[in-house]
Formats: sequence, C-alpha cells, structure tokens
Amino acid sequence: MSAAGLSEPILSKSSIAPPLWLLVELTYRCPLHCIFCYNPVNYAQNRDELSTAQWVDVMRQARTLGAAQLGFSGGEPLLRDDLEELIVEGRRLGYYTNLITSGVGLTEDRIARMRDAGLDHIQLSFQDSTKEMNDFLTSTKTFDLKSRVATLIKKYEYPMVLNVVLHRYNLDHVDRIIQMALEMGVEYLELANTQYYGWGLVNRAHLMPSHEQLKRAEAIVNDYRARVGNKIRILFVVPDYFEERPKACMNGWGAVFLAIAADGSALPCHAAKSLPGLDFPNVAQHSIRDIWYHSDAFNKYRGDAWMKEPCKTCPEKEKDFGGCRCQALALTGDAANADPVCSKSPQHAEVQEIVRQAHQSQRSAQSNSQPIMFRTDANSISLSAKDS
Ligand code: SF4
Ligand code: SF4
Repeated sequence: MSAAGLSEPILSKSSIAPPLWLLVELTYRCPLHCIFCYNPVNYAQNRDELSTAQWVDVMRQARTLGAAQLGFSGGEPLLRDDLEELIVEGRRLGYYTNLITSGVGLTEDRIARMRDAGLDHIQLSFQDSTKEMNDFLTSTKTFDLKSRVATLIKKYEYPMVLNVVLHRYNLDHVDRIIQMALEMGVEYLELANTQYYGWGLVNRAHLMPSHEQLKRAEAIVNDYRARVGNKIRILFVVPDYFEERPKACMNGWGAVFLAIAADGSALPCHAAKSLPGLDFPNVAQHSIRDIWYHSDAFNKYRGDAWMKEPCKTCPEKEKDFGGCRCQALALTGDAANADPVCSKSPQHAEVQEIVRQAHQSQRSAQSNSQPIMFRTDANSISLSAKDS
C-alpha cells in the first residue's frame, strides 16, 4: 500500500464497473435513538461533517464517474440546513434523488421547498403501527409527528414509500402495520427485518425473533399480497440468520454502491467502518475516481482472490460473493471468511445456536442480562470506550 492507501486494482480497471448508487450520509446527528440503528456504534467519537461545497464536489465527481441514483441519509439528513441546496445541485447534475428520513423536521415549508428543488422521492420510516411501540423503540415521542409527515408526503404528491424495520417487538404487528400503510395510501411498503450490525448487533439478543414469529409474519404478508394485489407493493426481507445462503451484500464489494460518511470517509457499504485494518480513504484527500478504482479499501474484497475455502472453490461465489464481510467479521473474527449464515461455512452452527437461543428465551420469557442500548451519544461513547 502506498502512503495514500492507493494501489493498482486487483481486477483490471476496465473490468471494474463505475458506481451506480451514491449514498451521502450527511450527518450522524439524529433526534431518534433507534435500538436497531445501522449507524456505526462509535458515531459520537467523530462529529465532523463535510461542508456544503465538499458535498457538492462529491456529487459532481461521482456523477462524472457514472453514478445515477443519489440518496440523502444520515442520521437525520433534515438536520442539515443546506439539504435543499444539495437537492438542487443533485437534480442539476442529473441524479434521481431520494431522501431517506425519519420525518422529524419535515415541515410543510420544507417539503414545499424540496419539491421546488426537484426532489424525486421520499422514504419515510416508521417503527411500528402503535404509538407506544414506535415511541419506545426510538425513545422519543414521534409517532404523531410521523403520521403528519405521511399526510404531507401525499399532499405534495410524492409516491408514498414506507420503511419499517422488523424484529421481535413488532413482527406480531405485521397485519396492523400493513393496515396502517393501506390507510396512509402507501404505494410501496418495505418490511426489512433487522440486519445485525451497528446497533442491531449490540441489541441482537433483544431483537432476534423466533422462527415461528417470522413464519407467521410472512404468511400474513403473502395473504395481503394475494388480497390487495397491486394496490400496495410489499417487500418482505427475511433476516439472513434464518437462511441457508447469505445475501449478495451490496451486490458485491465495490461493485455498484458508494457511501460517503458524514466526515467524508468513503465506504463500499455503510456498515464497513466496523472492519479493522482497512484505511478508508477520505474525499478531503482523494478524488472519487482514485478512491473507487485505486484505494486498497475498495479493492480489498473485489473479485475472488481474497476468498478462502469454502468460498474459493464454490460454484455459487458469483451469486453471493461470499456474503457480507461485516457479518463474517462480527461472527467469525475474520472478514475474509465465508459469511457464516451460509450452511457451507464451518461456523454456521454458531448462527443456528444464536437463532435457537432467541427461540428459547422467547418461550421461557427469559429476560436478557444485558439492557437495551438505545442509540444515544452517551451509549456510543461508553461502548466505544469498552472496545478500545
Ligand atoms: S435508524 Fe433511527 S436513530 Fe438511526 S439514523 Fe435512522 S432514525 Fe436515526
Ligand atoms: S461457500 Fe461462500 S460462495 Fe459458496 S454459497 Fe457459501 S458464502 Fe456463498
């Protein structure tokens, strides 16, 4: 590796496709404290944020490289006063622009300005169909506010896209969640089971559902699909701990997805900061082109030269790329191992044991010894101190 963390790519540059998706995590500030938050657990250690001019430069460079989809996320992107300015620039550059938001801060004045700025798409998150559970999971009182935001999104004629992260606490409410979505006029409902990284991994013992819960919820989703047809499109993403094969994480490392964290670190996946030994390049020091094609971090898990057995000689490696590197690290201690969700992984039994324990603790209503860790600055600092 050179001093700048740049090197020749393992694959030839011509075989590396340009990024299609640019996700800009404008800030890690957020008024909510979700127990499954996908942000890095140590987010409070670094509060740096790129300036407006730096974000515009990132968008311009990525567009020149070929990126076409632009997501504004965080934290809560509405906490950036320059969001409308960035949307204008994103549209001017020719991106399809998405806002991924909790809804907190989306006043009528702002949504009107965003529509004038040319924003294409808003994805609103809810945590449950009940006020009590929504407010418990976020440690806030935001259910009513989110409901008002949903009305505004319809009023301003955006396609209504609702995201609800599922887990043990709300899987049994799936029918009510779908009913709520139908009443709101949702066109696209994403029911995404918790991914166990970031705060989801910290709180895994509390969040992991039982197999029965999952099967019941999936049957309800399928029943609604049959009954309501095209009125609402429902995506139900099964947690991969319950599968025999891993997901093709990010469609492959450094294949289509480029995330830029609030401080300007460039990441092939928004959870990748958990991987030790990788020096993620920063847009303040390197061009997006150099980062995408030449950085050690982006080249590390491209292709299959890095793979160990059983992935190395597996006929399915073109399909799932060995699964998720962050999950392999979290569960096996080595990011280059097969994702242990895969039944061919020597560590697969450990995943099955985690699922079995979740089932057991639910049956016996056993309480967890570790308290729930809400995503707060204080918890971020104390968990980071434990890890260092
Ligand atoms: S998951 Fe919750 S806490 Fe995390 S950024 Fe989104 S709204 Fe904020
Ligand atoms: S062994 Fe590796 S490549 Fe093969 S299916 Fe499992 S995770 Fe995928």
